[in-house]
Amino acid sequence: MSQNDTIAAIATAPGRAGIGIVRISGSSLTDMSARLVNRRLPPRRAMLADFLDTQGEVIDRGIVLYFPAPHSYTGEDVLELQGHGGPVVLQMLLRRCLELGARLAEPGEFTKRAYLNDKLDLAQAESVADLIDATTAQAARSALRSLQGAFSERIEGLTRALIELRTVVEATLDFPDEEIEFLRRADAEGRLAALRDQLAHVQQASQQGSLLREGMHVVLAGQPNVGKSSLLNRMAGEELAIVTEIPGTTRDAIRQSIDVNGVPAHIIDTAGLRDSSDTVEKLGIARTWAAIGKADLVLLVIDCTAGESASDNAILARLPRSLPCIRVMNKIDLIGRAAALQRTDGATVVWLSAKTGEGIELLRQALLDTVGWRGGGEGLFMARERHLQALAAAQAHLERATQLARQLELFAEELRLTQEALGAITGEYTADDLLGEIFSRFCIGK
Ligand code: GDP
Repeated sequence: MSQNDTIAAIATAPGRAGIGIVRISGSSLTDMSARLVNRRLPPRRAMLADFLDTQGEVIDRGIVLYFPAPHSYTGEDVLELQGHGGPVVLQMLLRRCLELGARLAEPGEFTKRAYLNDKLDLAQAESVADLIDATTAQAARSALRSLQGAFSERIEGLTRALIELRTVVEATLDFPDEEIEFLRRADAEGRLAALRDQLAHVQQASQQGSLLREGMHVVLAGQPNVGKSSLLNRMAGEELAIVTEIPGTTRDAIRQSIDVNGVPAHIIDTAGLRDSSDTVEKLGIARTWAAIGKADLVLLVIDCTAGESASDNAILARLPRSLPCIRVMNKIDLIGRAAALQRTDGATVVWLSAKTGEGIELLRQALLDTVGWRGGGEGLFMARERHLQALAAAQAHLERATQLARQLELFAEELRLTQEALGAITGEYTADDLLGEIFSRFCIGK
């Protein structure tokens, strides 16, 4: 992938829409824009223009925006053609751009260029994809905060403190005789303790945030007619938010996702789990089992007028033993019992009515508690697994540094490694193949 060639892509979703956008980025677009539109383009002003083909015929008429480098998303010259949102018109426009020397952009290539041109750091670039992929409003807010730099600032704050400590330690290495006294005066120990505290804080906020990104995976079990669909509809309906699965990331066994106080819950339906000789059905069943293997908890719905049945126990017996189980005693309206949440010996039972909605909030609480959600909205970072691993590595190095505080050279080395681990998050130390991996998951045109 050359860095200097011109790239183009349709930036809006496929299909018909009011408006469709073709985006172009390259080191110089003056020539291309002169051929593409029939007028001169002042920087960053929306202009009405005809978009022209080779013969000078009009392909479409729309708004064109010209962002000369470096004041653009990618840091290069960027041209945005906003035309009518029909697939054919947009294809014609895109083809015209290719004729004029652009090539098709790879997924995420605009954002990758923004990163390479220092418009964003790596954590911010990743949050662009996270914002687009967010499945609940809270997840979207959290991704936006990362995009605005909140997560990166915390990491940079830690890095600055680390550099200060390293400076003291490295200086001391040159004067071995005064070593202890020097470090004491510089309060190396105090600084190290403060660093560990701050890092633990960021780790906790990131772990919580990763729940917003990944969501919880809930196995739904129970006999026919106990009220499973009613329960899901009730939970989805009250929030007015049946979470949309993102095309391409949809796991087959998961048919529905709901928003549980901001945390996405992906429902793995066990309805189709039975012995079958049908090949297609077998495949579906295998996928469901695979999804169950990665699930966070089981939700077993029971009709409280009938009680738990032998088939319920049979299903439970086939699920991984370590999987926490919440038993929902549904239809309390029929027996005149009050909603309740009971916890006994690690088992959680919620009495509720999917019909009246009584007790639904208790179930939400039970779900969130089970996956360890402590809320905390604004302070969270929507961390990726990659970030969690880097934070864990940084923590391990700091830990070792603490143990090695009396062996100054090893101490200094562990501090250096801590900084390197943190640098991987914002992209200061990042291998090329990792970049490829990160940006290949973006959509085209972003
Ligand atoms: P599923 O087969 O487990 O998905 O069960 P449904 O959600 O289709 O519900 C089966 C029947 O039970 C329907 O007639 C629902 O209206 C009824 N039902 C579900 N939940 C409740 C409840 O809490 N109270 C009462 N009285 N009826 C319910």
